[in-house]
Amino acid sequence: MIFSDDEIERYARHLVLAELGGPGQQRLRAARVGLIGLGGVGSPAALYLAAAGVGTLRLIDDDTVALSNLQRQIGFATSDIGRAKVEAGAEALTALNPHVRIEPVAERLTPDSAARLIAGCDVVVDGTDDFGTRFAVNAACVAARIPLVSGALGRWSGQLGVFAGRPCYRCLVPAAPPEAETCARVGVVGALAGVVGSMAALETIKLIAGAGTPLTGRLLLYDGLAGTARTVAVVPDPECPVCGPGGP
Ligand SMILES: [Zn+2]
Repeated sequence: MIFSDDEIERYARHLVLAELGGPGQQRLRAARVGLIGLGGVGSPAALYLAAAGVGTLRLIDDDTVALSNLQRQIGFATSDIGRAKVEAGAEALTALNPHVRIEPVAERLTPDSAARLIAGCDVVVDGTDDFGTRFAVNAACVAARIPLVSGALGRWSGQLGVFAGRPCYRCLVPAAPPEAETCARVGVVGALAGVVGSMAALETIKLIAGAGTPLTGRLLLYDGLAGTARTVAVVPDPECPVCGPGGP
């Protein structure tokens, strides 16, 4: 694949990077990334992945844009309120980079639909705040051997993990907490979504291009109030129903 003059100029700052360069940019263009949820994490992640020249982005979300989303979901405009997120998102991403192919899927990911919805993706980014959806995405990614980039937000702190086989997301979260803390209940500072969404895009780019050391098997914990971050290893759960010896 040869890059057009337009693409060479567009990706100039990538092409001079030793860890990306022409070969890395080719891999980005050949890749398909599935984004589960165009929310606080997914919306900024999608923008950076489109800007980076990821060839195909599959947007999976059955929600519509609400006024309260705009404080952090910067891929949407005030005029998008009420529109399907995948439709408004596709328009914004195409406006940013017309070289990117968008696959809008206005469907809710469930345990039954997960395998079909992520089929053909090279990396999946999960930014949903619902544990049922997260578990379904994780199980489907483990089964299909697709690396999973998982980001979460709450109040002033965020976390990001990359899972490829074992340990998986379920090793980290064996069961859904009884009262899940959603952003709607506890609040979230908008700029934090940019931090975690951008880091999710960065890890995705690293995975596709084979650059650096991905966060695989580790969890990055960012404390926005303190301005600190630390990384901890995710321990494989011997009893994990998804990736453990007794799993499917
Ligand atoms: Zn596991």
